[in-house]
This record gives sequence, C-alpha cells and structure tokens, in this order.
Amino acid sequence: MTWLNLPLSALRRRVMVLILAVIIVGGLIATILHSLTPQTHPISLIIPPLAAVIALGLLIDLICNPNRLNLIIQATLIWGGFINIFPEYFFVIQAWIQPGKQLVEILPPITPGLFLLNTAMIVFLRPRSLIRFAVLLWGVMAVPILSYLIAHPGELQTPRGLELLLTLGPAMGVNLALIIFYVRLQAAVDHLQNEGMRLQKISEMDLLTQVWNRRAGERILGELIEQKQLGLGIILCDIDHFKSVNDTYGHLVGDQVLQMFAQWCRQHVRPQDMVVRWGGEEFVVIGCTDEPAEMASLAARLCQGIAQQSVPEVGKITASFGVACHQPEETLSALFERADMALYQAKQQGRNRVVVKV
Ligand code: GH3
Ligand code: MG
Ligand code: MG
Repeated sequence: MTWLNLPLSALRRRVMVLILAVIIVGGLIATILHSLTPQTHPISLIIPPLAAVIALGLLIDLICNPNRLNLIIQATLIWGGFINIFPEYFFVIQAWIQPGKQLVEILPPITPGLFLLNTAMIVFLRPRSLIRFAVLLWGVMAVPILSYLIAHPGELQTPRGLELLLTLGPAMGVNLALIIFYVRLQAAVDHLQNEGMRLQKISEMDLLTQVWNRRAGERILGELIEQKQLGLGIILCDIDHFKSVNDTYGHLVGDQVLQMFAQWCRQHVRPQDMVVRWGGEEFVVIGCTDEPAEMASLAARLCQGIAQQSVPEVGKITASFGVACHQPEETLSALFERADMALYQAKQQGRNRVVVKV
C-alpha cells in the first residue's frame, strides 16, 4: 500500500516515524560534526545528541504502543519547539550582549528545524489551531533573528545573513500562505463530507414516516449478509385492512396511521434494530440476530402493542407479522421468500398475529 492511499491514521503514524527518524539521523550527524570541530560551544555538544536520544525513545514508544500516537505527537512538538528555540535565544542574546560575537557565525542551523516543526504541525494539528500556532512559531523564532539582523546591517549583508533573511522572511511567508490555503481546503473538504452524509441520510429516509426507506434497508441487508459475523433476522409487518382505512377515512388519515405505526415500531424495537418502510403499508424490522425465538418475541411484542393502541379518528388497528432468520449460505431473496410466506400465513390464519418460518 503506497503512502497516497493509506488511511489517514496510518499515514499520520508513518509521518511521525519519519520525522522522529529524521531527528535521530540529524542529531547523530550534528553530534559527530560538532565533536570533530574544535571550539564547539557546549550547547551544540549537548542539544543534538539529546534530541537524537529523546527521538529514539519516542520512536521505540510509538512502535511498541501505536495507540499512544497523540501523546507522542504532543511530546515531539513541545520538545521540538524547545530544542529549536532554546539554542536560538541563547545565541541571539549572546550576540547582542557580547561585543565581537557575530550571530551569523555562532547561530547553529535552526531553520531546517523550523520547517520540520511547521510540517509536523500541518500533519498533526487540527486546522483550526494550525494558523495560530504557525504564526506563533514564526513570531517566536523568526522575529528575534530578523530584528537582530536589521539592527546589524553588516551581518545582514553576509551570505548567512541574507540566507536567514530570505528563509525566515519571504520563504516562511509563503509557507504561512500555504498553511492558510490548506486550512481553507480542509474546511471545504469537511463541509463536503458533512453535506455528503446529510444527503445520504435524506436519500435513505422515508419522507412520510421518517423511518429508513427501502434503499437504506437493502444497503444494510446487503452489508449484513456480506460480513457474516452478525446474525440477521427480519420481521415483515403489514398493516391489516389498511385499504379500508383509506376508503373510510381518506388518504390523509391513512398517511397519519402510517406515520403513527412507523414511529411506534421505531420506539419499541431494540436500539440495534432498524425499522424500514419497505413500501405502502409494509415495513421490515431488521435485527442483528439469527435466533428465531428472539425475533419472534420482538414481533409478538410489536403485534400486541400495536393492537392495544388507539389511533385518533380510526380507533384500533392491527398488523400481521412474518418472521424469518438468515440461514448459512442463504440468499437475501430466499430469506425474504420465507418471511413473505410467514406473513401470508399470518394473514390467512386471521391477521393480527405472528408466524415464524424457521
Ligand atoms: P391486508 O390486510 O390483506 O394487508 O389488506 P390491506 O387492505 O392492508 O392491503 P392492500 O394491499 O389491499 O391495500 C394496501 C393499501 O395501502 C392500498 C394503498 O392505497 C394503500 N397505500 C399504500 N401506500 C400508501 C400511502 O403512502 N398512504 C396511504 N394513505 N395509503 C397507502
Ligand atoms: Mg395490509
Ligand atoms: Mg400490503
């Protein structure tokens, strides 16, 4: 699997491993180079190996406990900020107060660390806090160096001075602009995702009864049959003599009966069950169990409960129920055929009852 189609959580973990590896290798190289250079400042001999050792510890921790990623990210950002900011301030203050010390000569290469921190923030921080932190980091790291260089034009005109000016000025400015662009893009993606979920919900809801429609039912049934882990049982419910409700009280009252029936079922099934309007005055309750007794007792509760309700204008209504539970290797249409047969028998036997087809 390439980096491009990795799930986001796995990608974040990989990027974190990469960043820690870069800190370890960078820290080791800096340690070797500094120890070979005479008159290296003690800070340059302490910070790089310390950074490498801490990054190694965090990397081992991440490999052993992948679920601690967020904690490790926070530790890396805080520690990464510290090992960049501390030496920088130390050398900037030294250059200001000690005559003869030139910042362009004593400042260690801190700008790669700044870009590394910025990259880590883009990958790991929430877009909302990203701009704030990026501006803060830029202010804390770039402003002291830039103000020093402006106050010391002689140093600004050296190659290192110009490089610092260009990197911490325009280059970081472009970096900030890209971060703002990324945040806007992310907001647009979030909006589209929410809109997609809202539209899917609308397209899978029955407008009249506000329970799931047949499209949603078929999708869920397909998924349940496919994954085979959870059981599957269905209850086909059909309101008895519904045509005569329409004929006697009119279509609008018929609609209200459908609404009341659907909502009553929805409120009286178990939380894991799904009520679907399959069409007309026919509903399906989908349950994640292949235990016929369990589905039968749920159907019996619904059947008795409905019969005890009194619908305004209409009075009592009843419904008939056909129950079938999925058998190994059975197709969806075979399962529905059995439930349909059970419902047909319930109607034949006088309605207002439950028939189970095992
Ligand atoms: P049975 O006990 O055998 O199920 O008889 P029934 O009258 O309930 O069954 P039938 O299939 O003869 O009639 C179903 C009726 O449901 C016919 C149709 O007009 C009505 N119907 C279907 N959809 C709606 C709807 O959305 N609103 C209303 N008000 N009626 C509907
Ligand atoms: Mg009917
Ligand atoms: Mg019917």
